[in-house]
Amino acid sequence: MRIAQLLKSTEYGSQVVVKGWVRTKRGNKNVAFLALNDGSCLANIQIVVDLAKINEESLRTITTGACVAVSGTLVESLGAGQGVEVQAESIEIYGTADPATYPLQKKGHSLEFLRDIAYLRPRTNTFSAVLRIRHAMAFAIHKYFNDRGFYYLHTPLITASDCEGAGAMFQVTTLDVDNPPRTEEGKVDYSQDFFGKPCSLTVSGQLEGELGALSLGQIYTFGPTFRAENSNTPRHLAEFWMIEPEMAFYELEDNMALAEDFLKYLIAYALEHCREDLEFMNKMWDNELLERLQFVLDNDFVRLDYTEGIRILQESGRKFEFPCDWGCDLQSEHERYLVEEHFKRPVILINYPKEIKAFYMKMNDDGKTVRAMDVLFPKIGEIIGGSEREADFGKLRARIDELNIPEKDMWWYLDTRRWGSAPHSGFGLGFERLLLFVTGMGNIRDVIPFPRTPKNAEF
Ligand code: ATP
Ligand code: MN
Repeated sequence: MRIAQLLKSTEYGSQVVVKGWVRTKRGNKNVAFLALNDGSCLANIQIVVDLAKINEESLRTITTGACVAVSGTLVESLGAGQGVEVQAESIEIYGTADPATYPLQKKGHSLEFLRDIAYLRPRTNTFSAVLRIRHAMAFAIHKYFNDRGFYYLHTPLITASDCEGAGAMFQVTTLDVDNPPRTEEGKVDYSQDFFGKPCSLTVSGQLEGELGALSLGQIYTFGPTFRAENSNTPRHLAEFWMIEPEMAFYELEDNMALAEDFLKYLIAYALEHCREDLEFMNKMWDNELLERLQFVLDNDFVRLDYTEGIRILQESGRKFEFPCDWGCDLQSEHERYLVEEHFKRPVILINYPKEIKAFYMKMNDDGKTVRAMDVLFPKIGEIIGGSEREADFGKLRARIDELNIPEKDMWWYLDTRRWGSAPHSGFGLGFERLLLFVTGMGNIRDVIPFPRTPKNAEF
């Protein structure tokens, strides 16, 4: 039986077998107490070992980190804070953990230390909590969209277009990089590569997602994306997961309404289904976590024009590290000023200058700004980036030409506007940014099981 189930049981006197990893062992000459955890929940179950019944020699090898199977009787616990415990009749040892070498022998390691042993950290309270929350959020995302008639579309991870516009890409090749075939001009001959042309890992599923929206009506993608940006920040990974809904017949206002509803749904879901883990995170890492989650649920997001946002920043009297004028891309310090200090709630910033946004965004009548939207959150900054897409064939083609994007890469995308085009919108939510917000963790490396960052892909 899993410990999460056992802890709720009231079948005192029943025979049970429970399997898990020892978190602590204490006791005296007559009795030992093991705190056993199997990952099913934060709480441990207490195992009471009568030394008269269990071989003393084998008990000695049951130390922190060891894996055991305990057979015994479920009894009502007299100790505070736990309903039941198991009176052990026999213990089978699956794997010992030598205290001299086991890295998690002691409690209270720093997050930095645990990052270096990422392959073991799910055995700690903090990381098992984060991973359970991560699971719950992934499940809630699928549930949210499924309940609303969105279809889950699997967009490719390998792509031949290098104009998705969201950052540097990782190349995918089977050519011998030490000695690639060459053309007569001496360039690498990609016609001999696996796909017959240069290919990369995708930075976004959006362009293909749009094809889905213009056929299935409402789709979402949820998969890994890759960005070879050498930015060592607490908010960027080289491999991260993104959720990208794309909806036919949605204008920017509908897109904003969906983004707000979606984020609130996920936060409410976490508060309802991950209570124990969230309370733990609140206690351990971020004392304002629960309050902040509730606050976002209870308040409307501000909708703000980029131009107005720049004016507020300039009139703030604040000295920013990067000064900002109309036309500049907002830095995290600007985003956080607007959210945390000026409005004190989430902000959806819209109508950005076209120069700092991607080619596919719908142009406003002013000819200068596009119907982009970034959702800005406290502590995180940008959590969602999205837009209404340019649906007009002529305007999209003109923009592609203006930016010198090779039409050979874009012909299939342009074709979606050639036949049966429709107004449509979508956005991308960074899954790990959401998890930073929901768990209260401060570094994105701590909300994904195996972080991929510059110079780090060991495990
Ligand atoms: P930023 O300015 O923060 O780098 P971006 O403008 O590159 O973000 P988009 O291309 O709009 O982001 O991607 C959509 C979402 O994906 C972002 O809002 C963010 O939540 C997430 N995201 C983007 N880059 C990363 C990354 N390197 N690691 C983790 N999440 C990311
Ligand atoms: Mn980026």
